[in-house]
Amino acid sequence: MPGSELIGAEERKEINDVLETGILFRYNHDEQRKGHWKAKTFEQELAKFTGAEHALMCSSGTTAVALCMAACGLGMGDEVLVPPFTYIATIEGVLLGGAIPKFVDIDETLCLSPAAIRAAITPKTKAVVLVHMCGAMAQIDEIVQICNEHNLILIEDTAQALGASFKGKMLGTFGKVGAYSFDFFKIITAGEGGAIVTNDKQMYLNADMFSDHGHDHIGNNRGMEGHPVLGTNFRTSELHAAVALAQLRKIDYILAQQRKHKKRLKETLAQFPEITFRYLPDPEGDSATFLSFFLPDEETARRVVKAFAENGIGGIQYWYDNHFHYIRNWEHLRGMKTLFTIPAQTMECPQDYATVQFPATDAIMQRLISMVVRITWTEEELNALCNKLTEVLSGVLTKQAA
Ligand SMILES: *Cc1c(COP(=O)(O)O)cnc(C)c1O
Repeated sequence: MPGSELIGAEERKEINDVLETGILFRYNHDEQRKGHWKAKTFEQELAKFTGAEHALMCSSGTTAVALCMAACGLGMGDEVLVPPFTYIATIEGVLLGGAIPKFVDIDETLCLSPAAIRAAITPKTKAVVLVHMCGAMAQIDEIVQICNEHNLILIEDTAQALGASFKGKMLGTFGKVGAYSFDFFKIITAGEGGAIVTNDKQMYLNADMFSDHGHDHIGNNRGMEGHPVLGTNFRTSELHAAVALAQLRKIDYILAQQRKHKKRLKETLAQFPEITFRYLPDPEGDSATFLSFFLPDEETARRVVKAFAENGIGGIQYWYDNHFHYIRNWEHLRGMKTLFTIPAQTMECPQDYATVQFPATDAIMQRLISMVVRITWTEEELNALCNKLTEVLSGVLTKQAA
């Protein structure tokens, strides 16, 4: 999964370009920067890679989600459908803009269920923030169709799925605006960072202004004359952009390695008939950052997780118990513990977050295990891991006769 496995000479070179000029700011200083525009260049290359018309780098994936909301004019009191299984940052991005999240069940894609979205839509619903969870796609074609039918804005939180696609089209480019994250744990990393992509010029301009105190940017520069809207500071720096640029140039290698390694792991687990796999609407488009699989029931899943831990098999996630990724353990959200007032506290909410339950999603999460797919495994390491997996699982499950 993480591009952090590959930090090396290329990242150092890009950083040095910036340090040698001393211009850490992404705008202005044309003379001194000696032709280095790391943020600009990264944005051009990200747009090209994703096939989107426009890309804008920002300070994090969380601010990218908030930027999507602002760019689309979503905010105060707008009801937005979101999944209960995501990194909490998605929800923070929605709350930052003042919108009100309404949680909707996922399906075996680990992403929002199209049927659950349909059932949740009311006249108050304005948008869907779809998360392509754990490296791969939702049933995106159906979700696009629902949004079109009901005139809902579709935002894609693609923080975990850079480079994943559906039928050849990159995730993040199906909705109005897509968000990415380049934090330390993501497919590529800048240390910290995020980006939005869109085909809509006005959305891009909105995001561009909002992310830099409302300034319009003429050419590469920030004029002090124009500030058409109020904004805030979600900017990135040239240092972060430099690392992101070197990392983006490794994305094809990252995806190829992950796909190769995941194939081996999947074949190993497929020996056990009790194991089934996450539903991938387009297996070819999987970024393969995780191998996600199901056991028949919670009890068996817990036994497998325990056996992995006892045998030193790392990189295992049992999301159902996780504190950051599943609503069950979001005590802060459930208790509305905030440090500033959010509209969800003062306006009418579509759900009582303290008590709302998700039995259909629970039934998926209880049986789900994800395994991180590393980029840098050697052939020997991968062989050893596959042998160990077979051995440990044989102690818990029944192996199919060869
Ligand atoms: C990591 C992540 C984010 C936020 O990214 P940061 O860069 O850490 O702010 C948002 N959404 C999802 C689904 C993520 O996994």
